[in-house]
Amino acid sequence: MTVPNTAKPVTFETADRVRVLPPYVFARLDELKTKAREQGLDLIDLGMGNPDGPTPAPVIEAAQAALADASNHGYPPFEGTANFRKAITDWYYRRYGVNLDANNEALPLLGSKEGLAHLAIAYLNPGDTVLVPSPAYPAHFRGPLIAGAKVHSLTLTAENNWLIDLSAIPEDVARRAKILYFNYPSNPTAATAPREFFEEVVKFAQHYEIMLVHDLCYAELAFDGYQPTSLLEIPGGKDIGVEFHTLSKTYNMAGWRVGFVVGNSQIIQGLRTLKTNLDYGLFSALQTAAETALSLPDTYLTEVQNRYCTRRDFLIDGFAKLGWDVPKTRATMYLWVPCPVGMGSTDFALSVLEQTGVVMTPGNAFGEGGEGYVRVSLIADCDRLGEALSRLEKAGIRYDMQAPAAV
Ligand SMILES: *Cc1c(COP(=O)(O)O)cnc(C)c1O
Repeated sequence: MTVPNTAKPVTFETADRVRVLPPYVFARLDELKTKAREQGLDLIDLGMGNPDGPTPAPVIEAAQAALADASNHGYPPFEGTANFRKAITDWYYRRYGVNLDANNEALPLLGSKEGLAHLAIAYLNPGDTVLVPSPAYPAHFRGPLIAGAKVHSLTLTAENNWLIDLSAIPEDVARRAKILYFNYPSNPTAATAPREFFEEVVKFAQHYEIMLVHDLCYAELAFDGYQPTSLLEIPGGKDIGVEFHTLSKTYNMAGWRVGFVVGNSQIIQGLRTLKTNLDYGLFSALQTAAETALSLPDTYLTEVQNRYCTRRDFLIDGFAKLGWDVPKTRATMYLWVPCPVGMGSTDFALSVLEQTGVVMTPGNAFGEGGEGYVRVSLIADCDRLGEALSRLEKAGIRYDMQAPAAV
């Protein structure tokens, strides 16, 4: 067959599953950050959830040794190495006193974000309903959107301490829902949930036969003696759900891409089946390094916790002097700060950036429920945080400031 010569520009349209994704709020912020840098402005970036500390030395040493070992150079086992899975369940037992089966109740992930998004694809058909808090970590709603699911937003409020109000979920929605996502200690609100809340969520999920997906990425970043609760230590929790963990935050390993999911074996099996068709899992050398991280002594954790805790106190005090009343957080690396009265999240974050070079994340990046807030990450030392505060003060940015007139 001769193909006629009809060369013309071809356009490529993405599939609906990509097209439906809401616009990326960070894009405009990134643009302004680049512009500010080009103008020589010294940015203080408190916008990201990217820990600023180094990976612990024993983890790097373990990775270097594992890298030199040729037996690590082939494809890793799909389900993760037996040693890393055992390190996960040992850690889990040490931390929560719950026994998990390393063969089918723990699965290493290429970062928890990967697992969260793929779990939605493994379990949701187009048109299925899921329950997702707003604000939430973006993978909790973007995963379901990619799967074609309908996201029913559960709006969180300061009045309810940023906890999900289960009684506000309409009966018919609860009956239809396939998955409920939740995350305490929370990114972005830094809220924590009491054990009774977890018990209520388990009861709700059992009654309506809903899969629970708990994101416990801040399992260890807690202060003042507070110990975050795991879904799997709640009676019935493992029968109805899974929990995602990461090494990114606790161990300053965000770039290494190591996370894991633990919990219900049937749920994990579905995710594993999907992943078997998509990836080969985590480089074995990284799994060896991750084992070392999970077995670091508690003194390492205390050090990390103290670092964030000091920054938290410093920034909360500084904000108070500028008229902000930011409640003391018990966990995470964030402060969830209300915008001055009458200002939207995006306008406020952009105007702070332009006037001071301090970067905060607009709350609406985490869903409509985050409107009216900005998230400030504790990812700089107190010297830099002090510099950020004095720039805010100089620019007259206070909680009680007048919103600028609309242009
Ligand atoms: C940082 C974060 C993640 C992502 O962790 P990775 O393992 O680096 O993908 C997941 N969930 C929440 C709530 C986070 O804050």
